[in-house]
Amino acid sequence: MIVEGAILDIDGPRAGYVRFRDGRVIEVGKLGTDSTRGRERRIRGIVIPSPVNSHTHLGDAISVREPPPGPVSSLVRPPDGYKFRLLAAASPGAKRRALRGAFERMSHDGVAAVIDFREEGLDGVRLFQEAARGSTVRAVVMGRPLQRPVVRRELDALLSAADGVGLSSALEENIETRTLVARACRARGKRYGLHASEARREPPDSYLHPHPDLLIHLAKATRDDLETVRDAKVAVAVCPRSNALFGRQPDLRSMERLGIPVLLGTDNAMFHAPSIWRELEFAYVATRLRQRPASAEFLARAVLVEPWRWLGDPRAARVAAGMTVPPLVVRLPPDDPAYQVVTRTTEHLILRVAPRSPVRVHR
Ligand SMILES: [Zn+2]
Repeated sequence: MIVEGAILDIDGPRAGYVRFRDGRVIEVGKLGTDSTRGRERRIRGIVIPSPVNSHTHLGDAISVREPPPGPVSSLVRPPDGYKFRLLAAASPGAKRRALRGAFERMSHDGVAAVIDFREEGLDGVRLFQEAARGSTVRAVVMGRPLQRPVVRRELDALLSAADGVGLSSALEENIETRTLVARACRARGKRYGLHASEARREPPDSYLHPHPDLLIHLAKATRDDLETVRDAKVAVAVCPRSNALFGRQPDLRSMERLGIPVLLGTDNAMFHAPSIWRELEFAYVATRLRQRPASAEFLARAVLVEPWRWLGDPRAARVAAGMTVPPLVVRLPPDDPAYQVVTRTTEHLILRVAPRSPVRVHR
């Protein structure tokens, strides 16, 4: 089968064709130059790397009711915010079912990987990995140790199972905790991330020390703060819908102009379905509502390219023969492909070129 139209990947948008055999890319080139001389089925569309949902708390999917009114802190702050009370009250079975539902939803959306900040210590990480078993979505899980001060044994056990640690923020975790966690992650080749400047501005010194691999939100960061983050070469995952719910917005335009590696995530599953396409369209529209537009190309990269770089798998972000993760075909007009993909993609426009097999967990 040949998809003719456009390609949008790590090399940017361009016209072209992609030839598939048995669900694999075997040929990519300029329009009209394919080697089949019209003998294969052709469709029109846009070929893109599979998207990544780069920040979630999928365990929250145990509650899908409208959250009670109040500031974000009363809802999601550990250890006794609304969501932590819900998590504590839910049975492991209920959490597993909620997680499976979230994985199914992402799989239908064509999402190939998710980076989740999982609360509830080692048990939380294990529950997440169990729920992800058999899914086509690769589960990257950043766990969180429960005890304070941090107990070395607990941290070691957590890191044996998880891909890293995702902390709440420098407002809630002191420098001793952050240093110990960051060092342990580094020593074991794992990732360390934390939320920063979400509800109010924090000085970059606090969240950049020790050096994180990933910052979440920066909704209240100033332009100077963002410059400091850029200079520190830290990737930032933004969640515009989650921020908007509490009247905030990350300055995506400045992030784009400064060249910060930006990733996009759907955040708490109790507030928003983990649909990366809805997040993408909202991000585009919201920057215009604020009259600080970010480009469609920049937003597309936050879903299709930057996360793969962050995961150390840039080959998954280039549509080419032998690419590591099969791409998606989106049945949209190929004109202006970044704009099409960002503002118009829905699940039913995704054409599966091959049934995807469950991801192998190599650990
Ligand atoms: Zn978060």
